[in-house]
Amino acid sequence: TKNTEKTWNFDNSYTDLPHTFFSSQKPTPVSSPTISIFNEDLATSLGLDPEQFKQSEGIRLFAGNEIPEGAEPIAQAYAGHQFGHFTMLGDGRAVLLGEQITPTGERFDIQLKGSGRTPYSRGGDGRATLGPMLREYIISEAMHGLGIPTTRSLAVVKTGEPVMRETVLPGAVLVRVAASHIRVGTFQYAANFCDVEELKELADYTIKRHYPEIETSKDMYLSFLQEVMKRQASLIAKWQLVGMIHGVMNTDNMAISGETIDYGPVAFMNEYDPATVFSSIDRNGRYAYANQPPIAAWNLTRFAETLLPLLHDNQEKAVDLAQEEITKFPEMYKKHWLNGMRKKLGIFNEEQEDEMLANNLFDMMKKNDADFTNTFRALTLGQLNDMEFCNSEEFKEWHDRWKSRLSRQKETVADSEQLMKKSNPSIIPRNHRVEEALEAAVKKEDYTVMEKLLHVLSNPYAYSSDQEEYTDLPPKTDQPYRTFCGT
Ligand code: AMP
Ligand code: MG
Ligand code: MG
Repeated sequence: TKNTEKTWNFDNSYTDLPHTFFSSQKPTPVSSPTISIFNEDLATSLGLDPEQFKQSEGIRLFAGNEIPEGAEPIAQAYAGHQFGHFTMLGDGRAVLLGEQITPTGERFDIQLKGSGRTPYSRGGDGRATLGPMLREYIISEAMHGLGIPTTRSLAVVKTGEPVMRETVLPGAVLVRVAASHIRVGTFQYAANFCDVEELKELADYTIKRHYPEIETSKDMYLSFLQEVMKRQASLIAKWQLVGMIHGVMNTDNMAISGETIDYGPVAFMNEYDPATVFSSIDRNGRYAYANQPPIAAWNLTRFAETLLPLLHDNQEKAVDLAQEEITKFPEMYKKHWLNGMRKKLGIFNEEQEDEMLANNLFDMMKKNDADFTNTFRALTLGQLNDMEFCNSEEFKEWHDRWKSRLSRQKETVADSEQLMKKSNPSIIPRNHRVEEALEAAVKKEDYTVMEKLLHVLSNPYAYSSDQEEYTDLPPKTDQPYRTFCGT
């Protein structure tokens, strides 16, 4: 099924699952679609001809006004814990067109988000607005640039239709590309609303699609749990290592593929504070920066619960097996985090004190309200005067300890510098820069600010001169930055 035609090459496997997992659902056409932004590089890697898709064909397809050949549009059913409360969900404003097979044989979901009502819409209008869809486009592409597994953004199309929120806003559709949209919540749906045979079909399907290497393992479903945990441990560590806060780690927003998904309230911290929360609805800080690893463990426990009937015929034994695995998560996560921290500090080998060295740095950053990204950037470039607290005795003591640590490995200072440049982004999508780009695009139809931002964020490890201006901190205000979901 290799794609050589530079067009759609759908091979829809999800629709072979029992019908309870989805509803056939066409996108609702819109009145006057126009392209807002289009990701030519991603289109090319998917096997699509960018020239063709920039034109009216792409616009009609991405708006949902025309169904491409081979597509089998569906809305997927899922459930989930939202802020700890279990509920039935499903794609309330999204339609999966199909699974595109790329020229290299990879399989990606092509999903329209904001494409109209579905059987899972409940009270919602099924629509999305331009600002938040462009925001998802910017942040998800920035995450890709950072080398963090993520869904991606192929295009944003303006619908030409107004959407009623607190005010009237321009409507938009985001074309989202994902390894799949199978979530912890998909398994919760199966475990709560389907029979064991259907649950097993979902598990077998997901293993085949995302973990084919375990299909022959003896305890396949236990291996499945282990492998999903491993990918999440690696993913969450990557978030922590760049100061990214997901904001709404509900179980329906945790992808079994190990990709970051659902960008509503995602934002990066400036000054280091483990209690940082940006999401307007997260009043108790459930999804604060420091809580992300334990929340991941909580979500994975919900996932493990769904697998119990597959783990063992004897329920008690199944619980024991699941529990034994789940308790390994904190250690698994910490290993990924510590390895990542070693790289951020230019360390190649392992010593017992490395964890303390890292934690002492974070303590100083916290005490001094130091900027997360710029602190590691300053250490990488040896520009210590850029650091707010470089003159303190405490820092000098830490710096001596770090330098002597670097001397206890065979690699050179230059090797450490290289490692640090690859591990510490010079820039991140800072909130004020994202807002500035969105403001120009939404209010003035000026996309140059956003294009330039996307360009520098595509390689945040470049340390190039055009990135320098993006290291600026936001102007001081008394208003905390706030993000939103479901807009
Ligand atoms: P999200 O915040 O995008 O993760 O959405 C959470 C849930 O609410 C998902 O089931 C969405 O499909 C649904 N949802 C959000 N906004 C809308 C909307 N405007 N219309 C219908 N469903 C929505
Ligand atoms: Mg099929
Ligand atoms: Mg969601």
